[in-house]
Amino acid sequence: MIALKNIEKYYDTKGVKSYILRHITTTIKQGEFVSIMGPSGAGKSTLLNVLGMLEDPTYGQYEFMGANVTSLNERKRMDLYRNHFGFVFQAYHLIDEMTVAENIEAPLLYKNVGSAERKSRVAEMLDRFQMVAKKDLFPNQLSGGQQQLVGIARAVVAQPTIILADEPTGNLQSIQALQIMDLFKKLNQEDGITIIQVTHSEANAAYGSRILHLLDGVIEEDVKVLTTS
Ligand code: ADP
Ligand code: MG
Repeated sequence: MIALKNIEKYYDTKGVKSYILRHITTTIKQGEFVSIMGPSGAGKSTLLNVLGMLEDPTYGQYEFMGANVTSLNERKRMDLYRNHFGFVFQAYHLIDEMTVAENIEAPLLYKNVGSAERKSRVAEMLDRFQMVAKKDLFPNQLSGGQQQLVGIARAVVAQPTIILADEPTGNLQSIQALQIMDLFKKLNQEDGITIIQVTHSEANAAYGSRILHLLDGVIEEDVKVLTTS
């Protein structure tokens, strides 16, 4: 599904290049659950942003579902982005002035999904994420864990092929983090959604099937997670 070939990203400051990503070459298959780990500043978020088409690499080739992303025109790239990607952020990025239900509905408005279909998909998400009773509350009336559930529901409602999550449990207590990881595992195993998450936690990474260790912009290690169950 994803092929990165010799991806490089650097910033040029007065002729001095500072590299953020170097020689990133890897493939990710549909249905994988990949965790990206590494110290702060290693380039994890940048790699995730490149994968999500939010940032362009300076050099190299990115292929997504057979399309050469680096040479796509803006409209085609936007189509890919809207039809396939869901994002989950550490700080949730919910809209404060909108209720839970409205936050979940928002991506469907961008995709021009009709009103009846929107209502039914939002209801399905509220039900699935056990947020029916909270649908008319605003984000600041929810715990962090509940806000992240809304963040994930908002990603899932658009029926993404792949979810990219940047430290999705970074602001959560461990019990809430467990709930979020269980949910990711279900979305991966039952819904077949490919998941790529950045995490600092070995325990979170163990939910996935593979770990990429990033150091100074380089993939230092690429290991399969051994499942015990
Ligand atoms: P991580 O998510 O692993 O902590 P990032 O991908 O956010 O790392 O950043 C990697 C490095 O790139 C950091 O050293 C950061 O300072 C640098 N960086 C990120 N964005 C820019 C930018 N716009 N200009 C210059 N350097 C940047
Ligand atoms: Mg980061």
